[in-house]
Amino acid sequence: MPPGDVHSMRTMSQKKTYTIACPKCKAAQEEELYESVNVAEEPLLKESLLQNRINAVTCAECGFSFRVDKPLLYHDPLHSAMIYYLPLGGADYDKGERHFREFLGEMHTLMPDGLDLPDVHLVFSWAELVERVFLLEADLDPRLIEYVKYIIYTKNSERLKPEQKAILFNAEDSTAEQFCFVIQDVATRKLESILHYSREAYESLCETFDQDEQTPMLLEMFPGPYVSARALLLRETAEEDEDA
Ligand SMILES: [Zn+2]
Repeated sequence: MPPGDVHSMRTMSQKKTYTIACPKCKAAQEEELYESVNVAEEPLLKESLLQNRINAVTCAECGFSFRVDKPLLYHDPLHSAMIYYLPLGGADYDKGERHFREFLGEMHTLMPDGLDLPDVHLVFSWAELVERVFLLEADLDPRLIEYVKYIIYTKNSERLKPEQKAILFNAEDSTAEQFCFVIQDVATRKLESILHYSREAYESLCETFDQDEQTPMLLEMFPGPYVSARALLLRETAEEDEDA
């Protein structure tokens, strides 16, 4: 087989037909949904994704619009990155990570000899997917951004309990001087308030972690595949409870 063939086949935008039941009126309809999107080949798909229009369905019976929560592989060859969106459903993070490792194993077997998989990020919610796309675009390091969130959580431990609140990077309202983060209520998914973090402080964090003895610490904190300050804090709380 010619080199690169499977690689390009695999990473082209792909769709598959599903039978979807409307969550409102239960009417079933056939719908073509994306399995993967390649935003270098089809840049408009990135816009669609950021506007929540990927895998969005409008019911032919009652007109209700909804997004189908199914796995999606986002491929951005320009940034040599992939993001795998895996809706957790009722599963926990550990189960999600195991599923992701199986998926990576399958991907590896599809790669032609000598070609490595690009970096594959793992996200469990649509909001995280959108956030990660923005981080790639802005050339920001997701681990460092999660570290900043970790600082924000620990400095506001009364107000921002990781059990109840998620922190999301907001690219659109971030400026040259400061990053903007939005607080989201986990249960209601409502966006509640805004926090700022100075870019200067972020840059000095970059320098700190660039020093050899500090770099492993960031990887140790967030070994992946799921890189998340909130998941780390929830894990720490669970361990404390076990010890108590
Ligand atoms: Zn309907």
